[in-house]
Amino acid sequence: MARKVLVLEDESSIRSFIEINLTRAGYEVIEAETGEEALEKLKNGGDIRVALLDIMLPGIDGFEVCRRIRATNTRIGIIMLTARSQEMDKVTGLMTGADDYVTKPFSPAELTARVDALFRRAGGAAPEQAGEICQDPFLLNTRNRTLEKNGQRVKLTQVEYSIMKMFMENPGKALSREEILDMVWGRDYFGELKIVDVNIRRLRLKIEDNAQNPTFINTVWGYGYKWGF
Ligand code: CA
Repeated sequence: MARKVLVLEDESSIRSFIEINLTRAGYEVIEAETGEEALEKLKNGGDIRVALLDIMLPGIDGFEVCRRIRATNTRIGIIMLTARSQEMDKVTGLMTGADDYVTKPFSPAELTARVDALFRRAGGAAPEQAGEICQDPFLLNTRNRTLEKNGQRVKLTQVEYSIMKMFMENPGKALSREEILDMVWGRDYFGELKIVDVNIRRLRLKIEDNAQNPTFINTVWGYGYKWGF
């Protein structure tokens, strides 16, 4: 099966750097220079499983592209390409639905590792045990990788789904942020712990009755998080 990755980057030197390295790692790269072009190519290439999105672009920016992709596609893995000086971009990117970010300048090894990790998850390489985990009011279907709350479907990204599954399999257990990073992102992931907090913040907005006063995903101060009480 083709391992297709979309690369949205307006600077041609960076785009070719990414293209060369991902091709070497066995991916088929679909290039786009603008957000509009990226959306068009995604629409016509249903089997693209991971997208790398630059943020500063002529026309619509990377955040907007991410939002528009997520409006119709929760399955694709999205990595934002951020500049070192734009610390807030990471958080904004994740809040708009990205799964990960890579800070420029990045090494080929780092980029490939991030794409590999997301590709494995987006592709569901390890077949899931078919079944359901039911914890009122939530029903997690591990075959379809879907979540319902009170019978209503909650749209989750692949990362959010993995976090929910981890919590629902470990009710009442305090999980450290390091453990969560290992379980959800994998041991070979070398990102920052902050990505855990940002994803949980986003997940709370989707599943809590009141994200300001969460009752399902509880904070364990100075440690991590716990599902339920
Ligand atoms: Ca740019």
